[in-house]
Amino acid sequence: MILLDGKKARLSLCQKLREKIAALSLVPKLAIVQVGDLKESAIYIHQKELFGKEIGVAVSVTRFPSDVGEELIVSEIIRMNADEGVSGIIVQLPLPSHLDKNRIINSISPLKDVDGLTNANLKLLWENKNGGFLPATTKGILSLLEFYGIPVSGKKVVVVGRSSLVGKPTALALLNRDATVTICHSKTARLELLTRQADVLISAVGKPKFLTKDFISAGQVVIDVGISVVGTEKTEKGEKRILSGDVDFENVQKLVSAITPVPGGVGPMTVFSLFENVVTASEKAG
Ligand code: NAP
Repeated sequence: MILLDGKKARLSLCQKLREKIAALSLVPKLAIVQVGDLKESAIYIHQKELFGKEIGVAVSVTRFPSDVGEELIVSEIIRMNADEGVSGIIVQLPLPSHLDKNRIINSISPLKDVDGLTNANLKLLWENKNGGFLPATTKGILSLLEFYGIPVSGKKVVVVGRSSLVGKPTALALLNRDATVTICHSKTARLELLTRQADVLISAVGKPKFLTKDFISAGQVVIDVGISVVGTEKTEKGEKRILSGDVDFENVQKLVSAITPVPGGVGPMTVFSLFENVVTASEKAG
């Protein structure tokens, strides 16, 4: 069994990204918009700040209270669109329910949409055209498969989860790479019959240990996107979250040919891919 180690892959790919950053005339900058004070969002933003520091990309965070009006966010994004010092913009999701997520996301210039979630970038993905930004998690999954030399062309890929953030763009990107893709969701009947047919099984559900060995066939490649907090433990540095993926790793790993751990699989690659997009945006802006 090969452990698809996202931290190892990222470390190896970082050198090339650093060289690209060094060749730029300006330090690239990622602007993050945060609304509210969700603990999970704060953790993900902190991870991005740390990685930005590690590779030499500036990261700014603009914070709004959870009861902020949409206009204020949109006008701040429009200001960032015009700011030559900002290479890429992301809105940390989820947003409070009173806000129109689509309107806010689509106020980001497609040229700075490094999360690849604007209609303009999703249309390029839909049409299988180059030149846009792929959503970071999707890009991270593709890079991880490529790093470990796992081909997808002609393979049966089953994606469990159909969110706009992960499931759908990942399924489309794999279809664009000539995989034969099945998308499953909460209403899929006899899910295990479909998941067992996959050469590459990708799970983006968000339910800990949901995919037990009954859903798996011997020799599959399993990509676990899910991240669920299942507890906390005290460490010297304070409280640490205990995370679980969608896959019952312990019992599944014996069967499969390759599998991502959680944490340390798709997560580090998602952050890396986001910063790859920031660097590309900066290169394009000249
Ligand atoms: P989401 O919007 O909640 O979507 C979850 C999907 O799972 C939905 O399509 C849902 O189906 C499907 N689902 C729920 N129960 C199911 C069941 N019993 N059988 C089959 N499908 C089922 O979540 P998301 O934003 O896509 O995120 C999914 C997970 O990935 C979360 O744990 C999240 O934290 C994690 N994540 C990780 C990364 C990373 O970098 N590793 C990045 C983003 C997200 P319906 O559409 O029918 O409701």
